This record gives sequence, C-alpha cells and structure tokens, in this order.
Amino acid sequence: MVTSWRVTLPCTKADAERLKDDIGPLALLDTPPVLMTSEPDPKRPDDWQLDAYFEGRPTKAALAQLRALLSDPTPVPLVEELADEDWVTLSQAGLEPITEGRFHIHASTHPDSAPAGSISFLIDAGRAFGTGQHATTAGCLAMLDGLAGSGAHFRNILDLGTGTGVLGFAAMRAFGGRTIASDIDPVSIEVTAENAAINHIPMGRGPGQMELVVATGMSHRRLQQRAPYDLIIANILAGPLIDMAAEISAALKPGGTLILAGLLDHQAGNVAKAYARHACRLVQRLDREDWPTLRLVKSRNARK
Ligand code: SAH
Repeated sequence: MVTSWRVTLPCTKADAERLKDDIGPLALLDTPPVLMTSEPDPKRPDDWQLDAYFEGRPTKAALAQLRALLSDPTPVPLVEELADEDWVTLSQAGLEPITEGRFHIHASTHPDSAPAGSISFLIDAGRAFGTGQHATTAGCLAMLDGLAGSGAHFRNILDLGTGTGVLGFAAMRAFGGRTIASDIDPVSIEVTAENAAINHIPMGRGPGQMELVVATGMSHRRLQQRAPYDLIIANILAGPLIDMAAEISAALKPGGTLILAGLLDHQAGNVAKAYARHACRLVQRLDREDWPTLRLVKSRNARK
C-alpha cells in the first residue's frame, strides 16, 4: 500500500492566496500533492501554515519545488508519514471554502460564509470526487456561472460522471431545470444522494428535481428516455470523452450546450475534434492550471 506523507512549512497569507491557483511544477507529478493552508493563530495573521499531502514519500526534488513556491524558501520542512487513515478525508477536512461566481462550496468544518445572494452548497470530502477544489470542477462551475450570467436557460440537464453531485446541484439551482445525474461508480451515487439531502435538492423526475442513476456513459434506459438534453456537463477524462463523443452528442438537442472537462491542455484539440465530427462546435474555452473546460454547441441543423 502507498502510504501518505505530510510536509509542513510556515508560509505567509500571500503565499496561501497564491497557492490556491498555482502549485507550480508540482502539478505535473503523477499524483500531485493536495495543498492545504491555514492560519494557526488568528492573533498573528501573517504567520500561516502550509500542509502538503503526498501519496508516497516526497522526493527531494518535490520538497525543493514545494519550498520554491514560498516567499521564504529557507525554513526546513517537517516531513511525517501519516498513520493509516483515510488521507483524502483528512487532507480535505480543513479545505477552504471556494467561491466561483455565484457558487459557493464549503465543508462542514467551515461555517457557511457565502456572500449574500450566492448559491451555497455543503459538500464534504470523502468517498467521491468533487469538492470544488479541483481545477476541473472549478472550471465547470465558472462556466455554469458565466452561462447563468448571460441569461441562459436550460430545462433538461444531464450531469454525466457526477462524483459528489456538485455540478448537477449547481446547474439545477442556477437554471431550475429538471436534472439527471449519473456515475459509473455506485458509491458516487450514494454520496450524491446524501449530499442532495443535506443541500435540500428535491429528488424526483419533475421540473426542479433531480434523478440519480448508476451508469457507464449513456448506457442506461433513463438517460436515453430523458434525452435530448439542452445541457450536458461531463467532467470525466479525455479518453472516455473521446470514446463517447457519438453517444453524448446524440443525446444533445440541436442548439444544445455541452460542457466538457477532465482533459489536459494538450488533449483539448483532440477532444474538440471528436465532437466536431458530431456537429458540436467549440465556442468557449476556460483555462485553469493545465485543465481547460470546453463549451460546445450542437448545430441547430443537426439531425437529432
Ligand atoms: N462531476 C464531478 C466529478 C468529476 S470526477 C466534478 O466535476 O467534480 C469524474 C467522475 O466521473 C467520477 O465520479 C467517475 O466515477 C465518473 N466516471 C468516470 N468514467 C465514467 C463513465 N464512463 N460514465 C459515467 N461516469 C464516469
């Protein structure tokens, strides 16, 4: 089993702000560390702390890269192996709330400090992906916020690969449509059901309600029955997105909107090309770290 390691360093508030958006070359590691910053003593607002959680013992190079991210790289890091705990939960327990436009996401360890008028969700880290901290989730939220800001309306929404349910909840609250959220992983659907209850998301098949299904891609009777959708969001990975281009595009209404994420910068061209073959044209790209979020629109003249 790969053990988890924590590296602790002093940092400044400015470092903490910067690290929210940019973890430099550490982002290129196979499993990038999860970085968490905190203010251990509110009476000393300039003395912050950085905890970086690594899977496996961090290499010397990784430690050097971590220190180079700080305005003062001289302190010696405290490097500890963690006991056999659920390190994802552990590392995310103190994660800062995030705000993307009108959306605000916080964990139960933080009180809801959402600015007035925002759409706020309580999502705890745990067994499913999607607490808003990852660049892809944040990119999709930003894209949804932009669409809501431009007055877009969607009545029939699909969140494919829902993880914690976060994007489906956000789309439903922003656009009020009926929503179906799916995931290949039954645990994710269990977690989404729990999160829906916590966040007062009405479950069901009607307008303003959410339905949940366990499904690989579009291969579920309910996903087919509810098509065509006017908004599909899929934050998966480039490979499956390319493989599923035909079936996902077919489930979209002519003129419908598709938001794709989970792809890396260098994969964006191939993903867009795969969807262009099915009448979906790239109209917007939003870059977060190395993870672009793509917005495509299906031609109004497309057959289906
Ligand atoms: N939508 C969430 C989670 C993204 S992680 C967010 O944006 O934060 C990707 C999710 O897609 C995972 O929960 C994974 O289980 C699911 N997934 C991966 N391949 C899939 C497939 N072929 N069909 C459906 N879901 C899939």
